[in-house]
Amino acid sequence: MSTLPDNVRRLVDEIETEIGDDGPAALAIEGGASRAGSTRAATADAGNGTVEAAVRQILTEIGEDPAREGLVGTPDRVHRMYTELTAGYHVDPERLINRAIFDVGYSEMVVVKDIPFYSLCEHHLLPFFGTAAVAYIPRGKVIGLSKIPRVVEMYARRLQVQERLTQQVADFLMDRLAPRGVGVVLEASHLCAVMRGVRKPGTIMTTSAVLGLFRTSDRTRAEFFAHLQRPGPTA
Ligand SMILES: [Zn+2]
Repeated sequence: MSTLPDNVRRLVDEIETEIGDDGPAALAIEGGASRAGSTRAATADAGNGTVEAAVRQILTEIGEDPAREGLVGTPDRVHRMYTELTAGYHVDPERLINRAIFDVGYSEMVVVKDIPFYSLCEHHLLPFFGTAAVAYIPRGKVIGLSKIPRVVEMYARRLQVQERLTQQVADFLMDRLAPRGVGVVLEASHLCAVMRGVRKPGTIMTTSAVLGLFRTSDRTRAEFFAHLQRPGPTA
């Protein structure tokens, strides 16, 4: 963890901690300091250039000239980009939920929807992106509202298939909150489908994971899907 490049460390800190928290992210914003142990010297040139060399090879393979002006910085940018888009592997779930689970008597459905997410399809390394809706019925414990999009982001910033991403978000909340049930629905557009082959822009893939009451109770599931139909408040 201590050898993460600064750009990745910053992202991980953002996902783990709240803006305004007295955490590493806040410190980094104020003083440009990174987490203890992660010194600039150790992270300035993360990696040994093999990723850059591989990207140059791809550029050559597709008939490009890696030495031309517009491409000279590309291998380095691509390397940094992939480490950022996969920063979710480095997020510590304990830090993410730290101090954000509360004992509350509330036992009705909690729904958070229209959560934007961006992920990378593991088959093509192309983006898929869309929105997530997450719901659960507490059993004595609730999680801070702002944490739910962070949970989605922790799993989205990895190489994924949409089905697994959906299930991981649901399983995480089930494990951590032990609620009476969890429902997660993801709607996403996959560039590997849109840009190549079938070329059907606008094709949306929907996946869902339902656990507990959301699986066993038709009424709970119906209530969840009714929430998803309802337009949100206009901004
Ligand atoms: Zn794909």
